[in-house]
Amino acid sequence: MKIILGQTLSFLSDPFAGDPEASALWDRRSGVVVDDTTGTIVEIGPADTLKRLWSNAVVEDHGDALILPGFIDAHAHYPQTGIIASWGKRLIDWLNTYTFPEEARFGDAGYAAEVASRYFDLVLSNGTTTTVSFCTIHPESVGAYFAEAQKRGMRVFGGKTCMDRNAPDNLRDTAQSAYDDSKRLLARWHGQGRLSYVITPRFAPTSTPEQLEALGSLWAENPSCLMQTHLSEQTEEIEWVMGMFPEATDYTDIYDRFGLLREGALMGHAIHLSARERARLKEVGASLIHCPTSNTFIGSGLFDMAGLRAEGQKVGLATDTGGGSSFSMLRTMAAAYEVGQLRGTPLHPAHLLWLATAGSAEAIGMGQTIGRLAPDYEADLVVLDLASTPGIEQRAGRAETIWEQVFPTIMMGDDRAVAATYVAGQRV
Ligand SMILES: [Zn+2]
Repeated sequence: MKIILGQTLSFLSDPFAGDPEASALWDRRSGVVVDDTTGTIVEIGPADTLKRLWSNAVVEDHGDALILPGFIDAHAHYPQTGIIASWGKRLIDWLNTYTFPEEARFGDAGYAAEVASRYFDLVLSNGTTTTVSFCTIHPESVGAYFAEAQKRGMRVFGGKTCMDRNAPDNLRDTAQSAYDDSKRLLARWHGQGRLSYVITPRFAPTSTPEQLEALGSLWAENPSCLMQTHLSEQTEEIEWVMGMFPEATDYTDIYDRFGLLREGALMGHAIHLSARERARLKEVGASLIHCPTSNTFIGSGLFDMAGLRAEGQKVGLATDTGGGSSFSMLRTMAAAYEVGQLRGTPLHPAHLLWLATAGSAEAIGMGQTIGRLAPDYEADLVVLDLASTPGIEQRAGRAETIWEQVFPTIMMGDDRAVAATYVAGQRV
């Protein structure tokens, strides 16, 4: 047994559903008891009580630092690690200039393994313990991702990106090979320890109707998997897509027609949605994944967090590495706040922290397993130093509430604020 001490903040309810400040329980001198053998949380409680009750446990004391569930990045492209922060114009230029040439290298298993290792080093140093990533069209890229995560004991989600048109020759599969490769990779990795396979058409314009149909069938045959793709990121993308699927009512309807829209569908971006699309997404229980640093970096638009949550949509938060400009979920929360401000709907720190933990967990169907500080949850944790730089320290020092204390770290913090990261109870 191990007792991890610090401040704790535990969400009791969805902060969008009521008073955000009443949605979490804060304890200034508290701790989390972790079972090293199962990697799960046993108990949360006042520090002194826990030390008395578990007198033989190893104590790791983080002082005034804040213990939270590890961050969950609900949409990323690990193969784009090497090209993050590449200067560009619009989405399609950016894909052609940077993304596709880099992704073409992932048929080389050695290169894929090297990038996967670097990627997980980076996300863990930023306090992210679960990632949901697109790989490339190459099965090697999927093997590298899962093998590296398995070595580190992480709960991760990922899948082979499928594209059989509108991509360079060396990045195209076919409807049949996408189905066969995805099926084989799913059988190899899905449910192996903490790993989950995700069926992954990149987005409608890079798949033929035949490929979308094949992946819809694969999902129907494997309903416990998630499905991830992109939806309505940029206005010119929507025009382009609709020209390819003239029979569809709208972008969302394309996925719907091919059996790719139901609970467990993770729709990256989802910015420019019609009322009909919103109603349909809500009706089926799909999850919308907000990628704010990517949306501002690529100039895609302003996600309607307040409106979508008010109507009961499931929403996760994500970096969209490397279209997003940071590996940090702190920076991502800051960008979500800024996007909310530009829409005239400010988000409370409770909204932001919830989105990066319990909210994203619920969006990926893991709301009973990760993303909360509660007994029986997996012990993936981040410990935040709330005074990690002089600028943050001087502001946090005059805070009167935990929300005021943590907000400067959300807005100005980066990997220097991550005092420790735990994966299944082990410090990494
Ligand atoms: Zn993406």
